[in-house]
Amino acid sequence: MTAIWFKDDDDGYTNWCKAHERGFVVNADSKPRRKYLVLHKVSCEFLKRPFTGPSYSKFCSDSIDELLAELERKAGARAFSKLCKKCSPLTTE
Ligand SMILES: [Zn+2]
Repeated sequence: MTAIWFKDDDDGYTNWCKAHERGFVVNADSKPRRKYLVLHKVSCEFLKRPFTGPSYSKFCSDSIDELLAELERKAGARAFSKLCKKCSPLTTE
């Protein structure tokens, strides 16, 4: 499944998170740019309202590869700018 981009849609975003408890979220500016693309787990407590507007948007997927593909399409990015230190998204517990 391809990554979904949520902008000004907190309801859509929260519903996605409920359905994908083990998914990933990239926090981005409302207009995504390479310098600010932070990867989190869905469950991360750093993710707070408003999730998707006016300043921020979110990319969501169960797949890191799909997230990266979408970030390249939307922001010309080849990588996340940062991995969240709070939720360490690429480690498995
Ligand atoms: Zn996090």
